[in-house]
Amino acid sequence: MIAQPKASHFVDGAYVEDVAGAAIDVIFPATGEVIARVHEATPAILDRALASARRAQGDWARTRPVDRARILRRAVDLIHAQAEDLAQLETLDTGKPIQETRVADWPSGADALEYFAGLAPTVTGQTIPLGQDFVYTLREPVGVCLGIGAWNYPSQIACWKSAPALALGNAMVFKPSEVTPLGALKLAEILVQAGLPAGLFNVVQGRGAVGAALVTDPRVDKVSLTGSVPTGQKVYAAAAAGVRHVTMELGGKSPLIIFDDANVEDAVGAALLANFYSTGQICSNGTRVFVQKGIKTRFLDRLKARTEAIVLGDPRKDDTQLGPLVSAAQLDKVMGYVAQARDQGGRVVTGGNRAPIKDGFYIQPTVFADVTDDMTLACEEVFGPVMAVLDFEDEAEVIARANATEFGLAAGVFTADLARAHRVVAQLQAGTCWINAYNLTPVESPFGGVKMSGVGRENGHAAVEHYTQIKSVYVGMGPVDAPY
Ligand code: NDP
Repeated sequence: MIAQPKASHFVDGAYVEDVAGAAIDVIFPATGEVIARVHEATPAILDRALASARRAQGDWARTRPVDRARILRRAVDLIHAQAEDLAQLETLDTGKPIQETRVADWPSGADALEYFAGLAPTVTGQTIPLGQDFVYTLREPVGVCLGIGAWNYPSQIACWKSAPALALGNAMVFKPSEVTPLGALKLAEILVQAGLPAGLFNVVQGRGAVGAALVTDPRVDKVSLTGSVPTGQKVYAAAAAGVRHVTMELGGKSPLIIFDDANVEDAVGAALLANFYSTGQICSNGTRVFVQKGIKTRFLDRLKARTEAIVLGDPRKDDTQLGPLVSAAQLDKVMGYVAQARDQGGRVVTGGNRAPIKDGFYIQPTVFADVTDDMTLACEEVFGPVMAVLDFEDEAEVIARANATEFGLAAGVFTADLARAHRVVAQLQAGTCWINAYNLTPVESPFGGVKMSGVGRENGHAAVEHYTQIKSVYVGMGPVDAPY
């Protein structure tokens, strides 16, 4: 055991163990070794977590925003001070290359804490004049928020949810994915070290059933989930029974549209980032790469050459660019999609097999060309390093095909013609779009999906809407004019 946390849960300001819960082995995806073991939260642990969140939230809501912010900013400093250790832990938990976890995961989480610390003191209500009377509005916290995370960015997700929640006066109970339980515990430890009062950020481990039990608990006021569409549908429905607030960050099958006039190297670079970063396990990935016919040969030649130069291997090594998938189950799922794409007529440009590495859940970075809209590879979220390249002739056609999906998380356009870029983006059904860029998600920019890809937005000023609620206060300044 090389990454064993002090205990499975973090409740009411301290690590807590309860071995009565079923064991969950944490597996290092590069070797298949068990690196830690945690236990699923029992009902007693959940009760303590929710009770402490409820108790702590009232005082926190009454704390001056600038004082809340100071604590979060101290947490940012603590994260930066142990950046290398945190990156290594994230790599063990997820199997993602250390060169990614050093720059993306915790750094992006720290950015969220810093951003919402700065934003919280600026959040104010309105005054609405009504002649002699007036209304003023207060932006109040929602209360106790439940965060449920996916396994692809476990620490970033924990930060993206807790940062606005805490900055704006809420408490949070967070359940990480059972596959990656370690990062959120570290966040809880860091927040308490930074001065966060006990009970405001609790971490409880468990599988889906633990998440489901929390969603319907009457002490939960809001649910924020990052996960797949089927889980989102279940959680949204369960939350609706209590008319709870929700933020749903769900899956995607996003189009990346490359016009003939695009810079080929930039477009290839973006397609690689949009499919192979985090071993392809990113919800906003541009997994349907539409390439206009005039550029197709050049694009595929460069794509093949650059894909075959990717360094695949042990994610702990500095030069590794592509690590394993997160789990054996995910590897089976992805290999199933590859086999199906071959059967349905996809042409393998490169890859298509498990990587020749003895242990671990590795697959070669894979590119399919001549993919058509009806192939499963073009319709379903694979969540692995498998790129589908589709051909197109003209702008109207590609917009219609890009939108012909139940998902609407993200989209990208590459072209030298900026008027066209804006015209196309205006017609794409997606919550986040990029022009001549892909998969950049700075905390300043709202992030979330339309259609089946989600409800609500994380990050940016937009997140304030989702972690506060408005109270309108009517102030009568004159006599009460009753007709009775
Ligand atoms: P899942 O949907 O399987 O799980 C997400 C989380 O929900 C996990 O913590 C899971 O627990 C929990 N859960 C499962 N069932 C329930 C339930 N009935 N009630 C409450 N909680 C439940 O997603 P994955 O973890 O497999 O993550 C991959 C998916 O997440 C992809 O589809 C991807 O698109 C999406 N995603 C979306 C992002 C976005 O921002 N839009 C970002 C990242 C990922 P457990 O895992 O322990 O079963």
